[in-house]
Amino acid sequence: MPTHQAVWKQMNTINKTMLGLCILLFFHTARATPLTDSQQDFRELYRQLVEINTTLSSGSCTEAAEAMAAHLRSAGIPEKDIHVIVPADLPRQGNLVASIPGNSTDTGALLLLAHIDVVEAKPEDWERDPFTLVEEDGYFYGRGTADDKGMAAIFVDVLMRMKASGYRPERTVKLALTCGEETPNTFNGVRYLLQNHRDLVDADFALNEGGRGILDSDGRPLYNGVQAGEKTYQDYRLEIRNPGGHSSRPVPDNAIYRLAAALSRIADYSFPVEFNATTRSYFKRMSALSDGQTAADLLAILADPPAPDALARITDDPSFNAMLHTTCVATMLDAGHAPNALPQRAAANVNCRIFPGHTQEEIRQTLEGIVGDPDISVGFVDPPESTAPPPPLTPEILGPVEAVSRQMWPDVPVLPFMVAGGTDGRFLTPAGIPTYGVSGIFSDPATINKHGLNERIGVQALYQGREFLDRLVKLYAGDGS
Ligand SMILES: [Zn+2]
Repeated sequence: MPTHQAVWKQMNTINKTMLGLCILLFFHTARATPLTDSQQDFRELYRQLVEINTTLSSGSCTEAAEAMAAHLRSAGIPEKDIHVIVPADLPRQGNLVASIPGNSTDTGALLLLAHIDVVEAKPEDWERDPFTLVEEDGYFYGRGTADDKGMAAIFVDVLMRMKASGYRPERTVKLALTCGEETPNTFNGVRYLLQNHRDLVDADFALNEGGRGILDSDGRPLYNGVQAGEKTYQDYRLEIRNPGGHSSRPVPDNAIYRLAAALSRIADYSFPVEFNATTRSYFKRMSALSDGQTAADLLAILADPPAPDALARITDDPSFNAMLHTTCVATMLDAGHAPNALPQRAAANVNCRIFPGHTQEEIRQTLEGIVGDPDISVGFVDPPESTAPPPPLTPEILGPVEAVSRQMWPDVPVLPFMVAGGTDGRFLTPAGIPTYGVSGIFSDPATINKHGLNERIGVQALYQGREFLDRLVKLYAGDGS
C-alpha cells in the first residue's frame, strides 16, 4: 500500500515528466510548423550571412558588412544612419555600424554588438560545406551558424522590423557588426571603432554574444544564462638560458630540466578561490537547479570559508573550476636547438585566465614566486589590456531579461554567469560601456561545436532567440511614440 508521501512523490514525478514532454513536444513539433513570411525573410538574411566567407585567410567581412547594410537600406533606414567602416590598410576587415534614433535626448543608447568574422574552416575536414547553410534534423549547420552570425542576423532583423513597423524607440538603438573578434592580434573591430568612431558606438550599455540558454541532456531548457563579466586573458613567457654544450657530456644544470621543474610547480599550484556578485548568484541558482551531492556542494562552497570537501568535488568540473579562481596552464613549449646539444634556451607559454579584480602584473609576480628560480624570466607575451570589474547586474538590466524569459519559458530560471573565455566585452566594458551576453538561444553545450567541425545551432532555438531578442530590445529601448 503506497503511503501518501509516496503517491505524492509519484504524482510529482509524473507531473514533471508531463511538463518535460510538453516542452520537448514544443521544441520538436514547432519544427514542422511552416515559417511565417517574416521568419522566411530572416532565414534568407541569415543564409546569406553564413554563406559569405568571413575567415581571415580567404574571406571578407567587408562583403558581409555591405550585404547587411543593403538590407537595412531596403528596410528604409536612411543612409546617414548606416556606416560601413573599412580600415584603410585592411580592405577585407570591414565593419557595419547603424542606428535607429530614439525620441529621448536624455536616455543613452543601447548598442547591439555581434561579430561577423568566423574561425577558419577547412572544407575538406567538414562533412558538409562550411559556407553553405545546411538545414538537417532540426539544425542549421555551417561555420558561424552559432558563433556569431546567428546573433548578427537577428540584430539586423530587429532593426529592420523596428523600422518597418514604425516603432519609435525612446533610446537610440545602435548596431555594430564587427570584424576580427576571432583574430584580435591582426585587427579587432570593436577596439578600432572605440578608438576611431567612439560617437557611433557610444552607449549606456551593450548586448553581445556570451550568453545562452542551456538545454539538459534530454533537450529540455535548463536555464537562460546571462553573461556579466569575463576573466582577463594573458599569456606569459617563461624563459631560461644556459651555456649549453655537447650532449655526450651532460652537466647537472640543464635548461629543459629547470623549466620542466618550474612548470611542474605551476601545475601543482592552485590560485585562491574567490567570488563576486555574478558568480555567487550563479552558484546559488545553480544549486537550486542541481540535485543530490552537487546541489549541497554548490551551497557549501559559498560558506566562509568554503567547505574543503565540497570545493574539491566542485573544482573537479572544469567549467565550475574556471569560474572559481584564476587559472594558469602551460600551453606551448619551445626548447633546445639540436638533438645532440645541451639546450641553450628553454621557453614555455603559460596561458592565464585572471579572475576579475587582479592585474596582469600581480599574476606575473605570483608566477615568479611559484617558479622560484631567479634564472627563469617571466614576461608578458603581449602588453596587458585594460581591465574592468564585471558590469553590474542591476534591476534595470536583469529585470527585462527575466520578464521576456518568463513570457517565453515560464518555468526556466535566468542565471547570471561569468565566462572564462573572452568576448569583445573586454574592450567595451573597460571603455565605460557595460556589456552583457544575452541571446535566448538555447543549445546543448556538448554539441554546438563553436570553433570546431560541423558547427551548428538548433533551428527552432534560433527562431526563438530572434523572438526573445526582438522583445528584449524593445523593452530596453522603450516606446517613444
Ligand atoms: Zn564569437
